[in-house]
Order: sequence, then structure tokens, then C-alpha cells
Amino acid sequence: MRASSVDQIIIETLSKEHAHLTSLQVFEEIRKRLPAVNQSTVYRALERLVKNGKVSVSDMGTGSAVFELLVDGLHHHLICQKCGQVITMNHADVMVFFAAIQNKYHFKVITNHLILFGTCNNCTKSSGSKEGHENQDAQTDLF
Ligand SMILES: [Zn+2]
Ligand SMILES: [Zn+2]
Repeated sequence: MRASSVDQIIIETLSKEHAHLTSLQVFEEIRKRLPAVNQSTVYRALERLVKNGKVSVSDMGTGSAVFELLVDGLHHHLICQKCGQVITMNHADVMVFFAAIQNKYHFKVITNHLILFGTCNNCTKSSGSKEGHENQDAQTDLF
């Protein structure tokens, strides 16, 4: 099995799932299609794809690095630490932040998959007041 076809199958797998997979999950997906594939071959291919900028690698707070395909341009995430919701930010919003860092610290940011942790709107509301249900009922009455 040539390395280039392992690369291709990794790209196909990541684009199909459109998800953040750990290296082990990627390996297991690849093994379904190439039962004889070697784990280190898959890991080396992942490293190569990250180096080439085709795949991002990041820590999303789950304990192991996750990989995601970067085909449709860059994106970033906000992750709720209470419910685990993952919100995707577009790169244009984050670019403003990166540009400010670059101006102030003269530091060129190359992060291609920024992860910020916090609390989502729902979790902020539910921990703040217990009156949330009444508002929802009022809204459904309109229809
Ligand atoms: Zn992502
Ligand atoms: Zn939440």
C-alpha cells in the first residue's frame, strides 16, 4: 500500500465524517477499508497532512488531540465546558483577533484551528435563573 493512497483515504474519511477524530478513531476508520494497514503508517500520514496544512490538529479538552480536514478554509471553535456543545466560528471573526495580536506583540499567529473554552448561552441561562421555561411557553403561544 503506497503512502499516498493512505493519505487519500484519510482525507476521504475526514471529509465524510466532517468531525474531529482522534488518531485512534482515524486509524479504526482506515482499517475498515484497508484491513492490513499499519497503525504507524496512518499516524505518519496524519502528521504529513497536518504539516501540509490539509488537516488541523488540536486539543478540544477531551484528553487526546483531534484531527479535522481543512478543505473549506479555516474555522475555529467555542466549546461549552458544561454541556460540551461545539460552536464553529468563521475565520474572518478570528482574523480580527489574530491581527490585533500581530500588531501589538509582533507575533504572527499560525494556529489554524483555535479552540476557546467557556459556557454557552443555554448553560449560562439555566445556571442563572430558573424562570427560563416561562419565556419559552410565551413564545410558542404566538404560533
Ligand atoms: Zn473544527
Ligand atoms: Zn452549554
